[in-house]
Amino acid sequence: MRFHFLGTGTSIGVPHLGCQCPVCRSADPHDRRLRTSALLQAPTGKYILFDCGPDFRQQMLRFQQRHGAESPHFPVGIYTYSLPVISACLITHVHYDHVGGLDDLRPVSYQHPIRICAEAPVAREIHSHMAYCFREKAYPGAPHLTLEEIRPGEGLSIEGLDVMPLRVMHGEAPILGFRIGTLAYITDMTTAPAESLEALRGVRTLIVNGLRLQRPHPTHQRIEDAVALAEQLGVDRAYIIHLCHGAGFHAETNALLPPHVQLAYDGLEIDV
Ligand SMILES: [Zn+2]
Ligand SMILES: [Zn+2]
Ligand SMILES: [Zn+2]
Repeated sequence: MRFHFLGTGTSIGVPHLGCQCPVCRSADPHDRRLRTSALLQAPTGKYILFDCGPDFRQQMLRFQQRHGAESPHFPVGIYTYSLPVISACLITHVHYDHVGGLDDLRPVSYQHPIRICAEAPVAREIHSHMAYCFREKAYPGAPHLTLEEIRPGEGLSIEGLDVMPLRVMHGEAPILGFRIGTLAYITDMTTAPAESLEALRGVRTLIVNGLRLQRPHPTHQRIEDAVALAEQLGVDRAYIIHLCHGAGFHAETNALLPPHVQLAYDGLEIDV
């Protein structure tokens, strides 16, 4: 399966707006990070989206530049569209950098509704923010989304894949990570309870957040913590996401890390 990193930045992206630090002024495109999100292509050819942040539209424009030729074409009125089929969006939590782009799923949902899979309190918040999408007589042109409540430890099936939601802690807030086969996707975590660490045993590819080097943060683990988790779980490889300017230059920081644990970057694709 192909895994696409759409965005690898923290909630405000990199560069931080207005910041004059060397990382924010870097000319290396690897140091420019949109808000964290990703796509996984299932063996059916259809996609699972991990969160849908405010950069989703920009990320899909980039994605289509690279993969547009593979996307199915379909008519919309007098126009022809070409977009990948996204079956479902797995929501980790309701912070704006993870749900702020849901309305931009509109064109992707023209042909079929998209399953929005979230925990009950998150689903309720999405429903109240976007009530126009869920009324019996929905606003014309609104995205076709179906809200689906999921729970940690209760698996669900998407495109023939077994998806297991896992509890992780985002500071004080309980949020979700996901395991699909030997892949795990965890963002915005500080700690994971013992049962989630147990459920991560056997994961080969870990995608996990690490905000920056050295300085602790109340609601995000550091790059050092992500490296330690990769070691603890004994994964083959780990990719670090949700990075801020404190992560340093992409190339410099990666040179300091063990070769099997690296900072991800926007546009990176891996086979899992
Ligand atoms: Zn976030
Ligand atoms: Zn900066
Ligand atoms: Zn968050």
